[in-house]
Amino acid sequence: MSGIRKVRVGVLALQGAFQAHQPHIESLNAEYIEVINNEDFEKIDGLILPGGESGTMLKLIQFVGIKDALKEFMKTRPAWGICAGGILMAQKVYGPEQESLSVINIEVTRNAYGRQQDSFEEFINDYKVSYIRAPKISKTDLSVQVLGSKDESPTWIESGLHMVTTFHPETNLNYGSPWHQRFIAKCEERIQNG
Ligand code: GLN
Repeated sequence: MSGIRKVRVGVLALQGAFQAHQPHIESLNAEYIEVINNEDFEKIDGLILPGGESGTMLKLIQFVGIKDALKEFMKTRPAWGICAGGILMAQKVYGPEQESLSVINIEVTRNAYGRQQDSFEEFINDYKVSYIRAPKISKTDLSVQVLGSKDESPTWIESGLHMVTTFHPETNLNYGSPWHQRFIAKCEERIQNG
């Protein structure tokens, strides 16, 4: 912790698995803030784009009119996209093709592991995470660091302030997941660098 104030972690709260992040964030002594409208971006240090249904989320982003603020925020602040959230952050989306916010140089294919019943769990460094109708990251460029893979596709990537996981760590009830810790550390770093 910076010792000055709590890190304020925004979670896009239009649709999907946003509330499950609250106990993870709070157990790490950070503040959980739901992001719904343009004013909310002023209250947060970093943003989690949660899992859910990316097509629906995209429609809601347009409907409430936060697309520009969202893109602008992510240009200079930490953002972590989980599954559908990562699909929104990608540069290109296939399976089927879909518009996205183009904040990170990856291409993704939606629902690449099959249907809902093909969802599965795995342990990453002894911590259980879930893949729920997950996408595959089919392409990355040199600006992207691959930190985790499965079946030769990246599942956890980072590029500067941004991070994408195609799996969900927030489904694990052992709160304060390693990815939440890492994301909050990125937010602290960003606060310290001004
Ligand atoms: N299948 C969803 C989509 O394409 C993503 C699923 C998830 O976020 N768990 O948007």
